[in-house]
Amino acid sequence: MLRDDATLDNSLTAWDRDHFFHPSTHMGGHARGETPTRIVAGGEGCHIVDRDGRTSLDAFAGLYCVNVGYGRAKIADAIAQQASQLAYYHAYAGHGSEAAITLSKMIIDRAPAGMSRVYYGLSGSDANETNIKLVWYYNNILGRPEKKKIISRWRGYHGSGVMTGSLTGLELFHNAFDLPRAPILHTQAPYFYRRPDRSMDEEAFSRFCAQELEDLIEAEGPETIAAFIGEPLLGTGGIVPPPKGYWAAIQTVLDKYDILLIADEVVTGFGRLGTMFGSDHYGMKPDLITIAKGLTSAYAPLSGVIVGEKVWEGLVKGSDMMGPIGHGWTYSAHPLCAAAGVANLELIDELGLVENAGKVGAYLNAGLRDALADHRHVGEVRGEGMIAAVEFVADRDDRVFFDPARKIGVQLAAAMLERGVIARAMPQGDILGFAPPLCLTEAEADTVIAAAAGAVEAVFDR
Ligand code: PMP
Repeated sequence: MLRDDATLDNSLTAWDRDHFFHPSTHMGGHARGETPTRIVAGGEGCHIVDRDGRTSLDAFAGLYCVNVGYGRAKIADAIAQQASQLAYYHAYAGHGSEAAITLSKMIIDRAPAGMSRVYYGLSGSDANETNIKLVWYYNNILGRPEKKKIISRWRGYHGSGVMTGSLTGLELFHNAFDLPRAPILHTQAPYFYRRPDRSMDEEAFSRFCAQELEDLIEAEGPETIAAFIGEPLLGTGGIVPPPKGYWAAIQTVLDKYDILLIADEVVTGFGRLGTMFGSDHYGMKPDLITIAKGLTSAYAPLSGVIVGEKVWEGLVKGSDMMGPIGHGWTYSAHPLCAAAGVANLELIDELGLVENAGKVGAYLNAGLRDALADHRHVGEVRGEGMIAAVEFVADRDDRVFFDPARKIGVQLAAAMLERGVIARAMPQGDILGFAPPLCLTEAEADTVIAAAAGAVEAVFDR
């Protein structure tokens, strides 16, 4: 038996180094104790606290997922109530729980027009694997088996699975994994700050991106292209809002060649941009929508594919031809996760969090811009709703990156943490990301802005 907390802490740190294989972590470095173990013990509102008693304002909401904030008793109670009543039953062959059925209705009521059904998984990655399979199945049912390729964007993030890792347009997620790249293609990222020709304005760059997409479709043969997948606003690839007119221009190309649109709303779904869905924010007309993170605010793992009416009708034909769909997870629509989802969506409405994301998000974005945009190493401050990024450059005129070995983004995130605020060093380029819980107050936004300004000064000016 462990007798006191100090003994336990020492043991936990050792067990962590020796037995815990952390995701997205330097394996050897962590095992050798070169990177710290932070044991997170509790959370309340926008703050987390660790076992050492250190509190941090979490300006990245975990992994932009704890949208309603930490410590919400309503969701905890809903999970506990569901666990004592019915912890699990499967959803195969027409089975379901009250929570899963209610949640499906709530999602469709909130989704963009033309959505029909929700298929549940446990992570954004598995939901995108489902998307890929549904798109392939759909085209087989429609008698066009050659129409299978899926176009993603460089810098897009769609998961870490075998196929979804391929969809992800960040080399780090491909390196040395031998992912099957063949049915996946990548096109231009709508990254206005790093557009190839700076004489283009936003609309011209949007047209350029749409033309690149069309050229790729023509080169591959339109009859081979099944779908295009994109986050309404690029997330993990750098938090990059699309330039003006981008989605309208892309939609025109997709319609011309009868290509499905998958909107990956894992980050943007349920309020992050100040609207319930990013698709509504940018006027997108998706056929399939990926959801996860904000669906339960990560109180329990749950994801989903929202299937539009057109695709649903095709899938139904498939069952009429071949019987029940051969795609299912044991934990699809898990009752505990569904109960968390219902309570979470109710809370978002009760607390007016979508509106708050728009209002306080605008305040946060403006504050970051005022504090940092003129700094000699700040290339761009950008964002939308309750998400923002600051991109750092060695040279503002030429927009040159720092030498990656200097790990400027990591240094800045560490300097922010010293000031009590968690921001994320995004995985590619020196970009600090901000995506706080949607319940952030203006006073908390001020704290985030002050910590960012202090960190920039500490890293560059001292
Ligand atoms: N899509 C997007 C847009 C994401 O941001 C993420 C995760 N950050 C995923 C998919 C994958 O989700 P998960 O990590 O739950 O598999």
